[in-house]
Amino acid sequence: MTVAGRPARADDIPAGGADDSAGVKAAAGGAVDKEALRRKYRQERDKRLRPDGNDQYIRLTGRFAHYLDDPYTPRVPREPRTDHVTVAFIGGGFAGLVTGARLKEAGVGDVRIVEKGGDFGGTWYWNRYPGAQCDTASFVYMPLLEETGHMPTEKYAHGPEILEHCRRIGKHYDLYGDALFHTEVTDLEWDAARSRWIIRTDRGDEFTARFVAMGVGPLHVPKLPGIPGIDSFAGHSFHTSRWDYGYTGGDPSGAPMDRLAGRRVAVIGTGATAVQCVPHLARACGELYVFQRTPSSVDVRGNRPTDPEWFARIATPGWQRRWLENFTANQTGGVAAEDLVMDGWTDIARRVRSRIMELAPEDRTPEKMLEAYEDSDFEKMEEIRARVDAIVEDPETARRLKAWYRQLCKRPCFHDEYLQAFNVPGTHLVDTDGRGVERITERGVVAAGREYEVDCIVYASGFEVGTEYTRRAGYDLTGRGGVKLSAYWAEGMRTLHGTHVHGFPNAFIVQPTQGANLISNIPHNLTEAGGTIAMIVKYALDNGFDEVEVTEEAEDAWVGLLLGHPGTLLGSPDCTPGYYNNEGQDPGPRGRLNVGYPHGATAYFGYLDRWRASGTFEGLEFRRGAA
Ligand code: NDP
Repeated sequence: MTVAGRPARADDIPAGGADDSAGVKAAAGGAVDKEALRRKYRQERDKRLRPDGNDQYIRLTGRFAHYLDDPYTPRVPREPRTDHVTVAFIGGGFAGLVTGARLKEAGVGDVRIVEKGGDFGGTWYWNRYPGAQCDTASFVYMPLLEETGHMPTEKYAHGPEILEHCRRIGKHYDLYGDALFHTEVTDLEWDAARSRWIIRTDRGDEFTARFVAMGVGPLHVPKLPGIPGIDSFAGHSFHTSRWDYGYTGGDPSGAPMDRLAGRRVAVIGTGATAVQCVPHLARACGELYVFQRTPSSVDVRGNRPTDPEWFARIATPGWQRRWLENFTANQTGGVAAEDLVMDGWTDIARRVRSRIMELAPEDRTPEKMLEAYEDSDFEKMEEIRARVDAIVEDPETARRLKAWYRQLCKRPCFHDEYLQAFNVPGTHLVDTDGRGVERITERGVVAAGREYEVDCIVYASGFEVGTEYTRRAGYDLTGRGGVKLSAYWAEGMRTLHGTHVHGFPNAFIVQPTQGANLISNIPHNLTEAGGTIAMIVKYALDNGFDEVEVTEEAEDAWVGLLLGHPGTLLGSPDCTPGYYNNEGQDPGPRGRLNVGYPHGATAYFGYLDRWRASGTFEGLEFRRGAA
């Protein structure tokens, strides 16, 4: 291919189109033209950059609040609680369940989980859209499998099984009795005179707890795109995390959505959620319009049922911990002799590692290693783009479904039916060439100047990320001396291990930032954090301490350690915008604090093990308080 007598380059592609892999390769005579590819990636990114960043999305308050209604469980009236518990945990997802479990194992009897949903499950309570499935192998993704004796039925379990597993944990550890469902915390206040927290909720509760822990989830506040006219649509609409089976028919286990027969449905968004639900919609709808702003990279899924005989062989005592450690070591570039999980995530790391190992020892400089990483990424993304051509029958649709960015710029997806769905008659890709939907009208969706009339709009538009912790949590904490957590973190997050905050005694935060900061198997972080919290609480109770708090020096030292090293490659500003890189906006100095332990996840977990085992919990101060 030539343009004006010279070899074609990726940036010769006219605006509004996308080159194919062959085009990028052609420029270099068959091999990938790396410079052309880099330019192409930049071009695609630049098209999508917008000055409003996270503000392009609408908060679901006021006239949008009904998008948050719980379609699954009716709210039951109850009397407000005014009692006292040893530990209150805010959030009934994996974090609350594993921490509750470890506390119970440690002998702490009264653990109260406060949850805004109608049952345990967190993200799996809300996300019941058809096709919902874990993307990381069940054996490492589903917590406490060994403790509860559950064998995941598939390598990648589907949503109903994971939700059921959450209930299993709740029952196994007797966490239901004290739980408060359909309850949102509105306020947490440290009562220094009594060395306890006062917890207030939207159900009129005002109870106290010696310790509070919170795991409110990284992706739990649904958001809508701020598309002009969004509230003018006269048809039906909902967000994927509140799937309206009353309207669609079917159920979360994948029963056909019979009420969509003959209907015209729009899906807005093509992220990990859309990738999973589009195949089901394609089968059910009369006409399905998938509105795409940025294509996801969709690699092979390769799901399969679990062979019970194989499982019996691997499930020897301590198996899940071994698998977790093995997965984390493989996935985050640690050292592991074998790859037990063998999935798309470990494949990414394996490829990078083998490229680096191909370098002569004297060539393993940071620059050369980054180059090897880039080469491996280009190769993988070319494979993923070639897969689109191999599957999607219409060449124009295939061209538009190709992702032009590095694989970890956006959440990598794995699916064996998503691309195939575009071969189903009646399923249409509406590519907006990076610009997004223009307008919503009373009748439908407008993109590239054309109105698509539909009966229903499904918003697969994701969740708030990158906004303030206390905004996403829905409450603030008032710590020692009346200091608010939002104020304390005004210049960015400050913790020890991502868990302990100076000035907020007896409070623990369960989340990965400033800890291992894993990128794909968050449940490993949660399980470790739950174990740590249980040990600290037990130590305090056994030794008659009323308060535990990280010292200012220890917190400063931890933050100093994090800042003393370069951040990770994830979320690079060179990436196409998305929640991995703060929508392409400079997060400022605050963003610099959103990092993990500089020596990697495996090293972090090793460090944490030693820190806990020392029995002194260095950096924490235990006190006898006023109580
Ligand atoms: P995402 O934030 O990943 O995707 C939102 C989608 O909406 C994007 O495709 C985005 O486009 C699109 N969008 C936003 N505004 C507009 C607009 N104005 N016009 C057109 N499109 C628009 O949300 P998801 O719910 O898909 O996924 C969120 C996260 O949840 C995942 O990244 C993953 O971490 C987790 N998840 C995990 C699953 C699993 O483990 N199995 C399954 C599903 C989700 P653009 O890309 O251009 O911003």
